[in-house]
Amino acid sequence: MITEMRKYIDIGVNLTASSFKKDIPQVIERAQIAGVEQLVVTGTNILHSEQAIQLSEQYESICYATAGLHPHHASDFSQSLASELREMLGHRSVVAVGECGLDFNRNFSTRQEQIRAFEAQLEIAIDLQKPVFLHQRDAHEDFIAIIKSCRSELGHLVAHCFTGNIEEINDLVILDMYIGVTGWICDERRGISLQQAVKHIPVDRIMLETDAPYLLPRNLGIKPVKKNRN
Ligand SMILES: [Zn+2]
Repeated sequence: MITEMRKYIDIGVNLTASSFKKDIPQVIERAQIAGVEQLVVTGTNILHSEQAIQLSEQYESICYATAGLHPHHASDFSQSLASELREMLGHRSVVAVGECGLDFNRNFSTRQEQIRAFEAQLEIAIDLQKPVFLHQRDAHEDFIAIIKSCRSELGHLVAHCFTGNIEEINDLVILDMYIGVTGWICDERRGISLQQAVKHIPVDRIMLETDAPYLLPRNLGIKPVKKNRN
């Protein structure tokens, strides 16, 4: 008889966002009551990665952390920042490099800066053999090309907050990647294509995440946080 050990994990929650400043204990408690046993707190820059690690220490074996530089902040990248990240990634509760990747939708950092910071973080992931928590928006081709160039050296990869189409799913699956699905799918305006596409994700490749406080499922009828998603 096979006894299946299942855990319900929110693989991406931005608990370091300012909207959670006052009620992190309550948020974690409510998540647990709802059956979410573990949460991976997203690190998007040095400060937020540090805070994510602090939460993982405070809520041991409930909260885990990622440490990385979001493409929005890619202009901050430097060799000393890379060293700081490497150090953080040695922490026992840091489970992935990231959030890192490319965002050519908003271009808060230039494309060159984003590519440089992304490639450097993949190099760190290869050196440390850590999984990678990936962000991509309007940059699918470059994103795939960069990952392809070093896929065999990388370990587990998850494309977080996937909002693309069937062709993009195929590109990710061929590269043996996991695909993170958020409340975007519950959006009656822009989630329709994802509702169709998600059927093409192999069931053992799907991961679930809230990306909280962003992307609150619209069909819950609760007023969402007015801020750009990460
Ligand atoms: Zn993201």
